[in-house]
Amino acid sequence: MSYNEQYTASIDNPEGYWAGQVDRIKWFKKPESILEKTDFGTYKWYADGELNSSYLALDWQIEQGRGEQVALYYDSPVTDTKKAITFNELHEQVTVFAGALRNLGVDKGDRVVIYMPMIPEAAVAMLACARLGAPHSVVFGGFAANELAIRIDDATPKVILTASCGIEFDKKIAYKPLVDKAMDLAEHKPSNIVVCQRPMLEAEMTEGRDLDWYEFQQGAQPVEPVPVRGDDPLYVLYTSGTTGAPKGIVRDNGGHAVAINYALQNIYGMQPGDVWWGASDIGWVVGHSLIVYGPLMGGCSAIFFEGKPIRCPDAGVFWRIIEEYKVNSMFCAPTAFRAIRKEDPEGSLSENYDLSSLKWVFVAGEKLDSSTYGWLSELLRVPVVDHWWQTETGWPMSAPLMGWDNPSEPRLGSTNKAVPGYDIRVVDGEGEEVSAGESGNIVVSLPMPPGVAWDIWNQSQRYVDSYLTAFEGYYHTGDGGYVDEDGYVVITGRTDDVINVSGHRLSTGEMEEVVSSHPAVAECAVIGANDSMKGQIPVGLIVLKAGEEIEEAQLEKELVAMVREQVGALACFRRTVVVQRLPKTRSGKILRAILRKIAANEEYKMPSTIDDEAILPEITDMMKGSGLI
Ligand code: AMP
Repeated sequence: MSYNEQYTASIDNPEGYWAGQVDRIKWFKKPESILEKTDFGTYKWYADGELNSSYLALDWQIEQGRGEQVALYYDSPVTDTKKAITFNELHEQVTVFAGALRNLGVDKGDRVVIYMPMIPEAAVAMLACARLGAPHSVVFGGFAANELAIRIDDATPKVILTASCGIEFDKKIAYKPLVDKAMDLAEHKPSNIVVCQRPMLEAEMTEGRDLDWYEFQQGAQPVEPVPVRGDDPLYVLYTSGTTGAPKGIVRDNGGHAVAINYALQNIYGMQPGDVWWGASDIGWVVGHSLIVYGPLMGGCSAIFFEGKPIRCPDAGVFWRIIEEYKVNSMFCAPTAFRAIRKEDPEGSLSENYDLSSLKWVFVAGEKLDSSTYGWLSELLRVPVVDHWWQTETGWPMSAPLMGWDNPSEPRLGSTNKAVPGYDIRVVDGEGEEVSAGESGNIVVSLPMPPGVAWDIWNQSQRYVDSYLTAFEGYYHTGDGGYVDEDGYVVITGRTDDVINVSGHRLSTGEMEEVVSSHPAVAECAVIGANDSMKGQIPVGLIVLKAGEEIEEAQLEKELVAMVREQVGALACFRRTVVVQRLPKTRSGKILRAILRKIAANEEYKMPSTIDDEAILPEITDMMKGSGLI
């Protein structure tokens, strides 16, 4: 079947289309229910099937004769370590680790928080939780203690799994003190913390609560996979929303397993035995879908990379990995390639390596600028494929299907066409569809396909409010853009207060809360300014309290330290500008949409509701004066 036939079939008869995909995976009990509506209005797939995601990633692969194939190639230039772990070995490690967790009382349905660097133990931890049917919640290691505490209080885990440290270039980042601090801050107190001690920086342990990673596994019995329902949660992954607290995106087992398998083969064009590299971190959705579950469930060998694209030891490390493991395809955020290009503008380091195994490169997470696209395509001479997805969807909404005979050609500036299952539309503010090529809000007609989250942990109503209320009958992606006459999707950016820093999604609201707590600040707005390396960087527009005489440079220093301490270094909050006032509506709401446009150097229309028209040129001048636009 051609793309058009498949796509049309998936939209005309979603239930029939996805019923036809059930046998992509091995079920303990096949689902009878393909599609169901939940009582709060979302749609779930394969709800009454029984399966286990760790079984699919490990045992099922071994049953198909892949026991001696490498499952994970751990490559850590920052510690000078390499390990090749076969499916048999990974199976053994996971089953015993799951046994040890069970001895701590972790059972089906219990949550486990994982706060770890990119070491293979983290993948073992995720798969062990999946084996027990205990949803894991991985928190990215760059988040500060306060952010970790918020997630601990929401997920209420029985146990936390961590490591003594992470490593960034030549710096050791102590993780355990952050976990200890988070434990002090959080109201919920998990009974145990299991710590993987890394020799370069050992953590202090609290007696009775903290356990050593390897000691606690001694004597543990390997466990068989626990059958879970299709609609049981596999994991909860927090992502930034527009308001303060992050949202716990819930991924189910059944829909996810089918969808990620579908994506790996059809979109990413991977076959069992291929070598796949998801160059990201387990703390993000990519790490879940494309470092751990996707490649393993698809029988691929996955690269597990602990390092950075540059200074490891140089900007040729990506090319070294591709040659050394004969990587067939990879995923990466454009920001990594921008960093490589900055260090090695001619890409001459790539000439030292044989990159002939590489079929194509996928990029997503943020806009792919034409300059980086041109540079990379020229350098690698393979298709550079831009595609679009979100934490919520867990797999791509628009992409070419590289596994099919005639994938649609890439088109510069576009993330390609809608993937089967996603009925992508563009609507105006009133929910009316706009014509092809016209910009608006990008939405997807319900039902969303399998694998897409249909619930927020503990807050089903928030799911409805965040995604289903703005435009009835549609899932609201929060992205703006258009679809051209040939069906190519173009994403121009967020339409809400989420910004994207180096492919990391961050809430400006969260940063505003921190900034406003400074005693000199009367009010503030944090907006995303364009940045040639990171895509966007946050900038705080600050109004001082009357009579406040703090030096601007001193204030900036203090605010930068506060955001680093309370949100984390990943926010890259480094700039503040003191302004006389912020633009507001007559009812007192800050006009954020306009500020976003000013920061992006885009034209804006003076809103009729503004209380004082002089403010906007004033802010534009301030931003220009500070070199931000
Ligand atoms: P996250 O949930 O952290 O993966 O962030 C998802 C957001 O990243 C999307 O809503 C988009 O705003 C942005 N994004 C993802 N992929 C792309 C892409 N290929 N081009 C432009 N923006 C993207």
